[in-house]
Formats: sequence, structure tokens, C-alpha cells
Amino acid sequence: MSRYRLAPTIAQARVLRDHCAHGRFVWNIAVEQHSWWRPGRQAAPGYLEQCRQLTKARAAFGWLREGSQMVQQQALRDFDQAMRNFYGGTHGRPTWRKAGRNEGFRIVALKGEHVRRLSRKTGAVWIPKAGWVRFRWSRGMPNDVKSYRVTLDRTGRWHIAFAVVPAPIAAPGNGEIVGIDRGVATSAALSTGELLRVPRLSPRRQHRLRRLQRRLARARRGSNRRARVKQAIARLKARDADARKDWAEKNSTDLARRFDVIRVENLRILDVTRSARGSVPNPGRNVRAKAGLNRQIMRSGWGLLVRRLEDKAPGRVEKINPAFTSQRCNACGHIAAESRKSQALFACEACGFTLNADVNAAMNIAAGHAVIARAGDGVARPVNRKPQLLLRSA
Ligand SMILES: [Zn+2]
Repeated sequence: MSRYRLAPTIAQARVLRDHCAHGRFVWNIAVEQHSWWRPGRQAAPGYLEQCRQLTKARAAFGWLREGSQMVQQQALRDFDQAMRNFYGGTHGRPTWRKAGRNEGFRIVALKGEHVRRLSRKTGAVWIPKAGWVRFRWSRGMPNDVKSYRVTLDRTGRWHIAFAVVPAPIAAPGNGEIVGIDRGVATSAALSTGELLRVPRLSPRRQHRLRRLQRRLARARRGSNRRARVKQAIARLKARDADARKDWAEKNSTDLARRFDVIRVENLRILDVTRSARGSVPNPGRNVRAKAGLNRQIMRSGWGLLVRRLEDKAPGRVEKINPAFTSQRCNACGHIAAESRKSQALFACEACGFTLNADVNAAMNIAAGHAVIARAGDGVARPVNRKPQLLLRSA
């Protein structure tokens, strides 16, 4: 993903703002339709049905019809993908887009002739209804860009980010299978025993970030000082995010090259999220702790790792039911919560086998066990599941 500063004319900026508004309108309608869905009710409309509804809405509303169908349809497609990510357990539920906050739209199926270079420092991109819009050619353009996203930030600056779908990597053909356990402490443990750690900000930068955040809390709203502190925080966070992206790119390429089949657990976030929230008659325990854990997992970069794996090793990534992968002994198959001694240590209650707990889980994932607890073995199945959700995620 490479981002450039976009420089629309005043007339073009008006068109871009309309695109943002239409995309947001369509997205929010989709959010609303899905927010009504409950287990047992008829499914919320899928992408195709929503496209039919969009056609009707365009026929009914002149202002919507005047906008770009491409932009509006893409918003639906993005929402569809966001719901898939949600059911797949890598992302939270898509939420409302607010005016002035999440302004942007996406264009896909980009062709080479839609981007041109005008001079050393200037490029131009074709945007539906706006025509050729200039941008600052501030860095090298990746080859074969497939899509772009235009965004407007809160300070009124336009940006364009071009995305490249990475080319699939050929399977090595060695028949090898790897399991990945995506933990919080180590980020990712492989069944080979390797531990992959997502890079974090250095202690010095973390310290600086905390100091800046305290300063922000004290700064007066709307003051220049506040804006400066905010920008410094944004820069630190961007550096952190870049390091995680880089980590996901490198490791997904490495895994796709080394193994024929890559198994990852499915739906872990969904479980954590659900058990944290609980239900009305049975409110969840440790809600705050679990919500914090969930945020940490989201931030740890493994969602991105899996997405990149699916891009680079299409059809070779398998999602495994995560039930009991952390409680099952990889040596003898005994399942006991007590075997998990700590975050780091697994020591089997039955046979005494000991191993790094995340690696033990990764080995279970590699074996592809969909472990089902048998009656009378004293293991409680996790409750609180909605089977409809699980089916839809398949
Ligand atoms: Zn054992």
C-alpha cells in the first residue's frame, strides 16, 4: 500500500466529497440491515440482493443516481468483505461510518492507463465523474496496482493509496503442513517450534508515546499545541503499524514458500469477543480484561498475516476449529485445562509431556484435530455459540 497526496481542483473535490457521501450512505444502510439480524431470523440480505436494492434506490433518488454506480457498488462489496472478515474471526463487526470521520471510497479493477505520470513530481489518476486528478508522485509506484482508495482526513487533506494484490506463490510440493497458533504473548507459534514475534515500538518510543498521550489529555481543545501533539502521536503509531505490516509481508511470503498447507485456527476472536460480552441474563465475566485481550489480538498483526497468507497461498490455507487446541496434549491426546500451566508452559496431566504452550497448540492445529469433547470426560464444551454464525463463516 503506497499513499500519495491527492490534489483535486475545487470542482473535483466537490465530486470526491459526493463519492464519499454516497459510499457512506450505502455502507450505513448495509450496517443497519445487518444490525437487525438475530439468530433464528431470516438472513440479512447478501451482496447480490443489496445490489438489486441499490439499483432500486438509484431509480428512486436522483441525487444517488447522479453519483457513480461504481463507487456505490464498491461500498457494498467492501461491506460484504468486512462481514466475511468478521465471521472469519479476523476483524470486529463493521460499524457506522460518520461524516467527517471516515471519509473515503474505493475503486477497483484499475487498468494501467488509469494512472499517468505528468512530470517527475506529479502524477494523475482517473477517477469516475471527476476525470484526471493530480497527485504528488512522492515515491515509487508499485507495478500492477489493482485498486485504490481515496480518503479525506479531518484536516481536509486528500490522499490516494494504491493497493497491489500480491501474486500467488507456488507451493513447494514437499507435502509439508504447518500449524500456526496466534497467541498474544509471542504473536505466532509454528508447529515447527519457531516463535514469530510481531515487532513492537522500542521501550523508548513507548515511553514517548505515553508521555505524548498525557500531554494531549492536558492540551486545550482546538489549540495549536494539541494539534502538534496529535500529529506526533499519529507519526509514532504509523511507524508501529508499518513495522507490523512489514512483518506480515515477510512472514507470509516465507510460510507460503516453505509449506504446502498452512493451517490456522478459526474464529478465536469471535469466541473471545462473545465470551467477553456475555448475554443479558448471563453477563460475561472479566469483561474488561477480555475486551483488552481482544484489542491486543487485533493489534498484534496476525489478522493481517492470515489475510496475506490467503493472498499468497490461495487454496492452501485451512482454518481449523480452535476448540481445545490449547488444552490437548499433542503427545497422548489427553484434554485437560489443568495441563496448561501458564501462558508459556504446557505440561500434560496424563503423560507428563511438556512443551511451550503455544507450540503445543500449533502442533494440534497442524494435525487438524477438530476435537469434540466426549460425554463424561469432564470437559465442558464452550457455550454461547451461535451455530448460524459458524455455518455462515464456512
Ligand atoms: Zn499427554
